[in-house]
Amino acid sequence: MNNEIRTHHPDGQGELMAHAVDACVHCGFCLPACPTYALLGEEMDSPRGRIVLMKEVLEGALPLFEATPYLDRCLGCVGCVTACPSGVPYGELITSFRGWSEPQRQRPLLQKVTRAAVLTLLPRPGLFRAGASVGRFAKPLSPLLPQALRAPLDLLPRTLEPAQPLPALTPAEGVRRGRVALLSGCAQQVLTPNFNSATVRVLSRNGRDVVVPPTQGCCGAAAMHTGARPLALQQARRNLNVFEETQVDAVVSNAAGCGAGLKEYPMLLAGEGEADENRARALAAQVQDISEYLGKLLEQGELEPFLPTSRPLKVAYHDACHLAHAQGIRSAPRALLRAIPGVTVLEVPQGDLCCGSAGTYNLEQPDLAGQLGDLKARNVMATGAEYVVSGNVGCHTQLQSHLTRLGSPIRVLHTVELLDMAYRGQL
Ligand code: SF4
Ligand code: SF4
Repeated sequence: MNNEIRTHHPDGQGELMAHAVDACVHCGFCLPACPTYALLGEEMDSPRGRIVLMKEVLEGALPLFEATPYLDRCLGCVGCVTACPSGVPYGELITSFRGWSEPQRQRPLLQKVTRAAVLTLLPRPGLFRAGASVGRFAKPLSPLLPQALRAPLDLLPRTLEPAQPLPALTPAEGVRRGRVALLSGCAQQVLTPNFNSATVRVLSRNGRDVVVPPTQGCCGAAAMHTGARPLALQQARRNLNVFEETQVDAVVSNAAGCGAGLKEYPMLLAGEGEADENRARALAAQVQDISEYLGKLLEQGELEPFLPTSRPLKVAYHDACHLAHAQGIRSAPRALLRAIPGVTVLEVPQGDLCCGSAGTYNLEQPDLAGQLGDLKARNVMATGAEYVVSGNVGCHTQLQSHLTRLGSPIRVLHTVELLDMAYRGQL
């Protein structure tokens, strides 16, 4: 699509946005893959419509406020990127656009306060745990509160698991075959602390020294995808400094959104100078999702074998958008699950559709997020599985919340938790 974005925005971010708009040929193949188009049936709530809106705003032909309702409803799930035959990097476009437009937006006071609270609490597990502990007691008051306050309360679990602090170095079991660093994430340290513990145990069992740098911080994905670019840059630079010093073979992430966030550092730092751009590319090249890392070991015949289950087990696999669409990782987690003797892996109907969690989406667009969560939970229940596994804390929380509401006994786990249980003979 011809555009004049480069004339109006002659910088690194402008170039990224112009390139994405250039690549779109308006074919519409992405429309069926878009959850908001599926729910609302409105062209401006589709990827193609949003690309046109962003182009017009960037060229000064449309006021920002006219486009924002449609752009705010975008989940950033990048299902459209998988579906697009022309390779339009929609994720780069919407992320860069949000970073560019946020400083110009006039948001209502309550929304400003909620956003600031989320971006302050999320990266600080200690504060987040304290806030979540207090919030659980306010859950009964939820129906009386404005929606902006109700949504975060509704998402909080009724009980919080105790913290599981990790050592800075866990040595390899047996012969040492490598050394990796773990990105420990933020929300998951509070909501699902066993994700990290299971990851460390599985990596160690496979002969890896596991380094968990205590000075690492939030990956910056939440800030990046909500338009808080200065904060995202600050968080990215901190992690660049920390992980560059670890001297590891790979930086492993077990949160699809965070892993994708680290892999997006080259986009985030585009235009920030050659030195930073090179550092961002070098770190991104080291980042691997836990299923990607273990999947390679499996392929190479180097993965420690799992113990068989005590009875046949049906496991549904849910593709996290930031694993399947943003990182293109689909087969590795399925192959790992199938490598457990006794496990049958089941596909979830409409599996490509986002579950509605999408970072902070279920806080900002609770109605749409609720519809998508309900649909996903019903599709998971239709598989007849005993467990549903995925590779992201957001999906986990969303699935757990909607399956519980629907009275389903299906247990929700991270892929690596199931692998860990198989190693420990707990299945
Ligand atoms: S499929 Fe790709 S090229 Fe076609 S309309 Fe969608 S984004 Fe544009
Ligand atoms: S990122 Fe997801 S919600 Fe946004 S336009 Fe693409 S498919 Fe639709």
